[in-house]
Amino acid sequence: MALIVQKYGGTSVGSVEKIENVAERLIAAKKAGHDVVVAVSAMSGETNRLVAMANQISAKPDPREYDVLVSTGEQVTIALLAMALKERGYDARSYTGSQVHILTDSAHTKARILDIDEAKIRADLNEGRVVIVAGFQGKDEHGNITTLGRGGSDTTAVALAAALKADECQIYTDVDGVYTTDPRVVPDARRLDKITFEEMLEMASLGSKVLQIRSVEFAGKYNVKLRVLSSFVDGPGTLITYEEENMEQAAISGIAFNRDEAKLTILGVPDQPGVAYNILGSIGDANIEVDMIIQNVGGDGTTDFTFTVHRNDYGKALEILNKTSKELGAREVIGDNAIVKISLVGVGMRSHAGIASQMFKALADERINIRMISTSEIKISVVVDEKYLELGVRALHSAFGLDAPKD
Ligand code: ADP
Ligand code: ASP
Ligand code: MG
Repeated sequence: MALIVQKYGGTSVGSVEKIENVAERLIAAKKAGHDVVVAVSAMSGETNRLVAMANQISAKPDPREYDVLVSTGEQVTIALLAMALKERGYDARSYTGSQVHILTDSAHTKARILDIDEAKIRADLNEGRVVIVAGFQGKDEHGNITTLGRGGSDTTAVALAAALKADECQIYTDVDGVYTTDPRVVPDARRLDKITFEEMLEMASLGSKVLQIRSVEFAGKYNVKLRVLSSFVDGPGTLITYEEENMEQAAISGIAFNRDEAKLTILGVPDQPGVAYNILGSIGDANIEVDMIIQNVGGDGTTDFTFTVHRNDYGKALEILNKTSKELGAREVIGDNAIVKISLVGVGMRSHAGIASQMFKALADERINIRMISTSEIKISVVVDEKYLELGVRALHSAFGLDAPKD
């Protein structure tokens, strides 16, 4: 007998029929003799619907009230799932995040889980109940409702698994595992049997939204056995694991991409100490996160400086940069919000040379111009024009031998 935490995402609970299908899956796990705790998301589209209403009322909705609003989606799902189980003769109890004391910090809309009191959950399990917890939400020390950021139900599940020392945390979604890249963009993408925490963390940070970044961080830190599976078809899914010494490594494990990018350039700024600070300091003060940064070699006593931000922050960043440009006596500010970032990820990169040049050749062969490049130990990212996203990802996917074998 094992203790299993399962999580079902929005598409897996998108209708009453699908919720009933989840109930059947939980019953199968009970019949196999397991204790089951389940975290669920809001029905698909519901969180977006709630966010849209908030944005209709205010361009900057009050964060506390935003959390009260967007956390409601999950409460609907937990109740319906508990009813479906009871209807089938299985005892179950639904709980909101605050009812099982998912304590978070007070950073509304992106709160972090600090602690979970698992006593109540254990008591229910001892009574033979299936415990159903609303994903994505918690409460802070003052009792305010908080939410964990989009995709946060993954993190609820992993945190529950860590607190309960569960044997496995299973993330059920609409794909049957983690693929070499988003199968919606590359139909030839392959399911991976295993991927390391380090690679999954890079993939998630670089735009693969199959798991929320924090859920991967949490699982790595607390040694949670994490698996991604389909709620519609049976199969082994993908296990997220630690790197094994003798694992035969392909150079590249996966390709991630991010459409939410924008870049800004300030041209002809005086090349002197403090310039980078002047430019990025004011951007940081406005709470805008900067991703890639490039400074050109100065020639005539001036230099050019380029950086990328989230596309939602583009307008604000441009405004700030224009102001800085006047203060510094720079020549010009230009920007582009029709760019995307494509990244190769793989721990195998450490031991394979020439990955970057192979990447640049594959893009050149398709006549795709690279606008920016950045590398770290296990990833290489390039910025290209938005219109080349699909072509670029597909070209790289086949150049690095990731396509599924044709039969
Ligand atoms: P859920 O609602 O279950 O949380 P998500 O939409 O958050 O589901 O995540 C699943 C989706 O992630 C898939 O439908 C797929 O399009 C996308 N995705 C992006 N990158 C990958 C990848 N490398 N492997 C699998 N799925 C991916
Ligand atoms: N319902 C939330 C969202 O759509 C949380 C989740 O699904 O993980 O972001
Ligand atoms: Mg998700």
